[in-house]
Amino acid sequence: MKNLFSELEQLGLSQLGNIQIYKQEEEEERHLEELKMKETDIVYDRSYMCPVCDKQFKSKAVKTGKARLKSTDTDLRPVYDYIDPIKYDAVVCPSCGYAAMNRFFTNITDLQRKWIREQISVNFKGLAQDNDIYDYEEALKRYKLALINAVVKKGKLSEKAYTCLKITWLLRGKEALIRNKELPIIESLKKQELEFAKKAYEGFSQAFGKESFPICGMDEITVTYLIGELARRTGNDEEALRWLSKVITSRAANERIKDRAREVKNIIKKEQEKIAES
Ligand SMILES: [Zn+2]
Repeated sequence: MKNLFSELEQLGLSQLGNIQIYKQEEEEERHLEELKMKETDIVYDRSYMCPVCDKQFKSKAVKTGKARLKSTDTDLRPVYDYIDPIKYDAVVCPSCGYAAMNRFFTNITDLQRKWIREQISVNFKGLAQDNDIYDYEEALKRYKLALINAVVKKGKLSEKAYTCLKITWLLRGKEALIRNKELPIIESLKKQELEFAKKAYEGFSQAFGKESFPICGMDEITVTYLIGELARRTGNDEEALRWLSKVITSRAANERIKDRAREVKNIIKKEQEKIAES
């Protein structure tokens, strides 16, 4: 077959003559397939007993020790190789619609059970469970169901805030997968992320004065840092600096979290300088 790009030889580009037009897309597709296979290997069906309808069901979970931590974002979102375990943290009963993050799933009072039955179970149409792995759409659906449940059962501020925070992490994970950088999709994800970050910030700041530590497994310093970082992400620089200073001057805080707080303070400083210059 004739070289598709033979006309370019006279322009000095003969070395590109055998380039494959769709190679990039094929490679990306293959890469995504590989990721899926690796993910299938590290998830399994975990059995649960629903505390609302008493039925047994299975939910996908990540095998312990199988995911390798690569880095942590400034808002403490853990980033792993090959898999985003956060997708598997919302547990949903496929029969009655009760949902919560794993750490909160079994803690439920009689009154909360009643509220969930009356406001969720009666209307819940059931959840199909035919996927080997959860994609981001599925994960977001499960998390939003968990958030609705937390509101209906009048759950703690911190439970609602933590669920919102993890939704922002999911949205960021989803964004990282968009390889050809489709701008409208990214913009829409960023907008949603900001909305949920605002809710997380609001909830954690209120919980700070009302709940006792640890909150969602985090000590007081970690929550202080997190509120500072959420304030920054939602455009409240002054508040952010106030919370971060508390971490930096705290006697109880270790150097690692102090360094993180300084790092975020620097981000704010740089952003402010950029704005001042323009
Ligand atoms: Zn149930």
